[in-house]
Amino acid sequence: MDFEETEEQSMIREMVRGFAEEVLSPTCLTRDREALPPVEEWKAFCEYGLQGITIPEKFGGNPVDDISEAIIVEELARVDPSFSVMFCVHVGLCAKTIALHGNEDQKSRYLTRLAEGEIGAYSLSEAGAGTDAAALTCKAKLTEDGTHYVLNGEKMWVTNGKSADIYVLFAKDVDHPDYGVKKHGGTTAFIVDSDMEGFSVGKKEEKLGIRSSDTCVLLLEDCMVPVENVLKGSGNGFPIAMNALDNSRIGIAAQALGISQGAYESALNYAHERQSFGKPIAYHQSIGNYLADMATQTEAARLMVYKAAWAKQRHYENDEPRHTKEASMAKLFAGDTAMWVAERAVQVLGGYGYTTDFPVERFFRDAKITQIYEGTQEVQKIVINRAIKP
Ligand SMILES: Cc1cc2nc3c(=O)[nH]c(=O)nc-3n(C[C@H](O)[C@H](O)[C@H](O)COP(=O)(O)OP(=O)(O)OC[C@H]3O[C@@H](n4cnc5c(N)ncnc54)[C@H](O)[C@@H]3O)c2cc1C
Repeated sequence: MDFEETEEQSMIREMVRGFAEEVLSPTCLTRDREALPPVEEWKAFCEYGLQGITIPEKFGGNPVDDISEAIIVEELARVDPSFSVMFCVHVGLCAKTIALHGNEDQKSRYLTRLAEGEIGAYSLSEAGAGTDAAALTCKAKLTEDGTHYVLNGEKMWVTNGKSADIYVLFAKDVDHPDYGVKKHGGTTAFIVDSDMEGFSVGKKEEKLGIRSSDTCVLLLEDCMVPVENVLKGSGNGFPIAMNALDNSRIGIAAQALGISQGAYESALNYAHERQSFGKPIAYHQSIGNYLADMATQTEAARLMVYKAAWAKQRHYENDEPRHTKEASMAKLFAGDTAMWVAERAVQVLGGYGYTTDFPVERFFRDAKITQIYEGTQEVQKIVINRAIKP
């Protein structure tokens, strides 16, 4: 067992921390208030090549180990949780899914573009199919000449919905023999370009938190997707969707960890500066206890996130068992920790914590989503419970 970061991991942490503080920090409050996606910030980020960390070198990527991926998300979220989820979806749910399940032609057409900085998204959820993802109603039908699928329906809750160029999107092939027979029968994964005929972006959601991340409805109105853009063939989409979430869930756990760290640091600094009754508030026992608990919970979340990332790495490198349980435990614990630490941070700052003069109110609003997306906390408990049979 070794708890030390490698030289490369420390270098990546330092680089991303520098980027987050120099580039994200000055604009994140305005972007949050005005719900503006980080367009210029993404371009600056791509200069580091980190948008290609889940893409093999032969397609222009810049692979790093799974703990480094978690460190990058953590450091981004420590300053700007919205930017961290944009990154997470791009590298985890979109690029990684194409890298794992795409054929050579799909990889060379799409991974190269994602490695160059075009933005990726992942579209599984619909208005009536969130937790119950098998209940998808978006339909795909092969054209008579067999060259295209025609997609119809509405997708919902798509992170990077408006910003993205490339979407991994799920719909049910109505001609598949399992369609209407099995609940997820016919589910098929497509790679969709934002400029394909019949594709458009609908309503952008007004949100409580991660407001600089655009979350949109996608409209499929006789959307023409070439058959070459189906991942792994018709009807094979459901395991692809679940596998992607299993992988990317660790990213959301890392996002939650970064939120805890950012909120805790703000509270710690404030508590040592703010005086009441003749001493810094950190030396009042109740505030000191909050800070001690915040530090401990954040560190515990960190260990679980890195352990899950380590298990994922071993699964893909050495064919060890899947990291499903570790990923769900990390997401469950880190999400609840982020919510708790951010709430305590607001308390430590008192009235100032309730204003936009300090980032803790934003962390408090941003933390909530980590208990909802990529499987709610209730779902994580179902997954963990399934994995802990005697
Ligand atoms: C900001 C944001 C960004 C998102 N980004 C994406 C994205 O990029 N791509 C994408 O595909 N989706 C995305 N989602 C969708 C997200 O994953 C879903 O919102 C989430 O899975 C929950 O689904 P739901 O909202 O339909 O809630 P529901 O499934 O309706 O759940 C409502 C409540 O019931 C509980 N519940 C439901 N079923 C069960 C059960 N069987 N047992 C116990 N409790 C249950 C849930 O835990 C929850 O508390 C995003 C959502 C948000 C809000």
